[in-house]
Amino acid sequence: MADECIICKIVRKEVPSQPIYEDHDLVAFPDIRPVAPVHVLIVPKEHMVNLNDVGKNDAGLLGKMLRLSAKIANDKGIADSGYRVVINNGDDGGQIVPHLHLHLIGGKPLDHKLG
Ligand code: AMP
Ligand code: ZN
Repeated sequence: MADECIICKIVRKEVPSQPIYEDHDLVAFPDIRPVAPVHVLIVPKEHMVNLNDVGKNDAGLLGKMLRLSAKIANDKGIADSGYRVVINNGDDGGQIVPHLHLHLIGGKPLDHKLG
């Protein structure tokens, strides 16, 4: 847990969000600046900066994040039309918020360009 981390504050409900899903390990909520009709952030409740912080005991957590992305995509009706999952990692990876988060993006055709 990090006192000043915006995602930790969302997890602690000190900053409002509209959680789509919550369990012991994870929270999912809409991105505040959506880039597509569906844009959801899936985060671990435990503070970890990015994938560089993920230990071998966290492998299951990453699996849960990916499975949850597919479940939410299904719930949002975009499982068949398709969607993208993205983890921006570090400065060159375009990470702005330093708490591990997975973007689930879909609901419109996305371009093929990466990078
Ligand atoms: P990244 O570049 O991967 O670090 O992306 C951070 C994402 O967090 C951006 O898409 C922001 O729009 C999103 N974001 C920042 N603050 C909030 C917030 N309070 N609630 C929801 N999403 C947020
Ligand atoms: Zn945090």
